[in-house]
Amino acid sequence: MTDERARELRADFPILAQRVHDTPLVYLDFGATAQRPQAVLDAERAFVTEHNSAVHRGSHELAALATGDYEDARETVAAFVGADADEIAWQAGATDALNTIANGIAAASRGRGGDASAPLRLEAGDEILITEAEHHANLVPWQELALATGATLRYVPVNDHGTWALDDLRPLVSDRTRVIAFAHVSNVTGLIAPVEEIVALASTVGAVTVLDACQSVPHRPVDFHALGVDFAAFSGHKMAGPNGIGVLYGRRERLAQLPPARTGGSMIEVVTMEATTFMAPPTRFEAGTQPVSQAVALAAACRYLAEVGMSAIRDHEEALGARMVAELSAIEGVTVIGNDASVPRSGLASFIIDGVHAHDVSQYLDAAGIAVRAGHHCAQPLHRRLGVTASTRASSYLTTTDDEIDALIEAVSGIRAYFG
Ligand code: PLP
Repeated sequence: MTDERARELRADFPILAQRVHDTPLVYLDFGATAQRPQAVLDAERAFVTEHNSAVHRGSHELAALATGDYEDARETVAAFVGADADEIAWQAGATDALNTIANGIAAASRGRGGDASAPLRLEAGDEILITEAEHHANLVPWQELALATGATLRYVPVNDHGTWALDDLRPLVSDRTRVIAFAHVSNVTGLIAPVEEIVALASTVGAVTVLDACQSVPHRPVDFHALGVDFAAFSGHKMAGPNGIGVLYGRRERLAQLPPARTGGSMIEVVTMEATTFMAPPTRFEAGTQPVSQAVALAAACRYLAEVGMSAIRDHEEALGARMVAELSAIEGVTVIGNDASVPRSGLASFIIDGVHAHDVSQYLDAAGIAVRAGHHCAQPLHRRLGVTASTRASSYLTTTDDEIDALIEAVSGIRAYFG
């Protein structure tokens, strides 16, 4: 994708035309939440103004239309990630989806679920394997699962760059490993994990793989069937879609083994005062009234991104990411986390400036109209390992232009002099 094309696409995103502090907005916080194109806003509005109704319940015309839109959305989102529609369950977000998986495994370990076979049952002595670079959403639920089952949580340590490699993970995999959960793309270092190799390794010991696809599905072509993972999670708001919706993917056989983490209306087959039977997946994981307009809008986001082309988006962002790493790290006193030539990286760069706190950096950049994220990015252990409490993250997307990266580099170049 050319810079020219990125400029053209900006016209689709009304919010990007804004000025902040009397300068043009340079939005480089897509890793936290992406902006939405008009097509996505229009799709949600059209649904709400024309078809809005409860799905799978009413017998009236609007209910039928809404149900059709809702299930079409599932087909579209499933196709976007190389899955079948019945392998996709709507969740409130990626965090929610990861909790559904971990809590479902906890329930299976207590003997719940029709077909809770060995891999989803954990007991004392079993091991859950993650990395030290995980977002808290893919860390805390596994700590809780370990506490609930007596299993041990182990992790792949990161090196001084904050990155890790397959060879670091390999020795930690044993016949006690039951779950391997990892981010496809790190939200701090941008590291792209070797998913297929990890899946192959997991299969040698019968471990279940869980992919945090929050920073990959929005930014690159992802095919869950081709990758072979058992479970995956991603969020709508990071991929030009709405917030309040995310996706739990489960390979059909695995999803069938997972008991529901939440129960109530809509997910049941038969309820008596004594007991309840649950629907088959994916409905079993969709208790209560669902985010229907958000599902419709998320499908519109998938159509929009597919039309632009996910390979083109990936190439564009990787080039911007490489440029940010090279030019930021060339500035005196600036260190880019994950600046490790031996690992493939995405289109974001988190950096530390000697003697200047990340919050001061982001405030300084904000005054220049540049929106970045400052803090630990929900990855405290990674930051602690690197000896810092916070970093500043600039993250690109399909609309990011060379001019915006120029603006970032120019502003960062002046920061140390400003803070003296
Ligand atoms: N995993 C990664 C890698 C993320 O970047 C994020 C969001 O920042 C999450 C999980 C959690 O996503 P959400 O807050 O949308 O549930």
